[in-house]
Formats: sequence, C-alpha cells, structure tokens
Amino acid sequence: MGCFQPVGTKDETSRIVVFLGRNCEMNLQAVTKAYDFTDRTVAITGGGGVLCGEMARALAACNANVAILDLDVSLAEKVAKSFEPNRGKSLIQQTDVLNKVSIQKAAEEIVKTFGHIDCLVNGAGGNNPKATTSADLSFFDIPAEALQFVSNLNLQGTILTSQVFGKYMAQRKEGVILNVSSMNAFRPLTRIPAYSAAKAAVSNFTQWLAVHLAQEYSPRIRVNAIAPGFFLTEQNRFLLTDKATGELTPRGKKIIEHTPMGRFGAPADLLGTMLWLLSPASEFVTGIVVPVDGGFSAYSGV
Ligand code: NAD
Repeated sequence: MGCFQPVGTKDETSRIVVFLGRNCEMNLQAVTKAYDFTDRTVAITGGGGVLCGEMARALAACNANVAILDLDVSLAEKVAKSFEPNRGKSLIQQTDVLNKVSIQKAAEEIVKTFGHIDCLVNGAGGNNPKATTSADLSFFDIPAEALQFVSNLNLQGTILTSQVFGKYMAQRKEGVILNVSSMNAFRPLTRIPAYSAAKAAVSNFTQWLAVHLAQEYSPRIRVNAIAPGFFLTEQNRFLLTDKATGELTPRGKKIIEHTPMGRFGAPADLLGTMLWLLSPASEFVTGIVVPVDGGFSAYSGV
C-alpha cells in the first residue's frame, strides 16, 4: 500500500502503476493530475510574505483558486499581481490570524467567491528582534509582551485559523491543512527562545489536530507541516548577514557549515513538498512534519 510497484508481465513492467490507499490504482497521468488544482481552493495566511508568496504563485500556476490572507494588503496585492496570466484565480482578504472574527470573515468571503475551501496553509508567523537575546538584551530581560507576541503569532495564529477553516472541512468531511513549522521545532536554536518554543508547539499541534480531525470528523481531513531550514528572508536577515557589508555573520557562517548542502534555501525549494502535502498524491499521509533544510537536521556536526 502506498508504494510504487510494477505490475503485469515482464514486458509490461515498464508501465509504472502507483497503488494508492483504498486499493485504487493510479497511473502516471493521474499522478500529474494530482498536481492540477483546478477548482480547488487554497487559503494561505501570511500569503503576502516571502515564503508563502512563492507558495501562492506556485499554486496559482497549478490552476488553484488562491486566497491570500495577510495583515498587510499591499504585500498580498503584490503577490497576486505576480501570478501568471490565465493561471489560477486570486482573492485578497485582509486578515489578522490572531482575531477569530477577522478569520471568520475571510473564510466566508472565500466560500462566497469560490464555493468551498479545500486547503489551508498556516504561513503567518515569525520571530521578532524584541524577543531575541543579544549583547544588549539578556534572556532575563526580554519583555513579557515580546514573548507573548511571538508565541501568539506562531501558535495561536495557527490554532485559531485551524478552528475556523477546520470547521468548514469537518462539514464537507474533507480538507487539507499545512502548517509551517521550523528547524527550531526539532532542536531549539540559540537566541530565539519564544520562537523555538512556539514552533515546537506548532509541530506538536500538527500531530494533535491530524489525529483529532481524522478520528472525530473524517479520515479525509489531513494535517501536516513543513519545516523550512534556513531561508534568507527579511525576518532573519539581521541575524544572518551584516547590515553594513552584507557579509555572513558568525551565526550565518555556522549555519552554512552545518548544512550538508552548503547553502541557504531558496523559497522555491519548498514548493515540491508543499504541493505534495496539499495534493491527493499524499492522501495516506497525515500528522508529519517534513524538514526542507538541505540536511541541517540530519547532521550531528561531526
Ligand atoms: P515573512 O515575514 O516574509 O511573511 C510573513 C507574512 O505574514 C507577512 O506578509 C506578514 O504581513 C504576515 N503577517 C504577520 N502577522 C500577521 C497576522 N497577525 N495575520 C496575518 N498575517 C500576518 O516571513 P517568511 O520568512 O516568508 O516566513 C513564513 C513562515 O515560514 C513563517 O511562519 C516563518 O516562521 C516560517 N519560517 C521561516 C523561515 C525562514 O528562514 N524565513 C524558516 C523556518 C520557518
């Protein structure tokens, strides 16, 4: 089950057939079709951002209806404008993932526009310099509000949207949620205590919700997470590169040294895993957290 397996006589073994769960056969054409998102609607929180903006573009290129939910509408608009012409449809909704009323409004707008919601990507999240230890800020002095901000944005911002969108999925008895975790979830990184703890909680919640929705509502509702390694984006540029020279900081150098593939990730590196987890190609996969990290999490350093 769930494995690639040649069938037929010896002469026929070149015809690759994929056996999927529930005893259904899927040929290569069907595999390709799994990545055609025509008539499928994907909501992406933080869709105006660097990583999730790239995901939104890829989904639109696969013909999805893409709802870009972001606090910053101007960023969301830029992403929607970058879609290839005649590929996918977009809807922009100003949404605060920490406000359930705002999330509910976005969900209603999506249903009004596209009829239903198939997938949710919980991408809004990130660290904040005020919750980062440094020569000027010790762990003991990080303000409670900064800790709460980072913790809420990453964890609450994933749980609240899952409550609202998960309910629509429970009603239809199908759907896919993809959370965005991080390397921090496997082993905490130095200097960013609240972000590390919050992403570990996102991975834990991914497993919890996968079990809950499958058992209580429908085995056709899946929940997984992607754990990006190190991608040079606006959120971490101040930690990884020197503002004046653009050179790698000692921390940035350490990361590259510890990444067997020897580079930072590019946003496009996330797309294959994202499409796989949102598509029927992963229909027997739920409750996993996939690192996309150039081998960082596998390397002991020796
Ligand atoms: P980004 O800052 O480029 O994008 C985040 C987006 O979220 C922004 O468009 C922002 O406007 C939006 N946002 C912020 N608060 C919001 C709120 N309350 N409601 C709705 N939208 C809100 O970040 P990114 O680097 O593209 O990261 C995307 C996700 O990937 C985050 O969850 C981040 O923690 C995670 N991640 C990033 C990296 C990395 O190296 N950049 C690594 C691991 C995980």
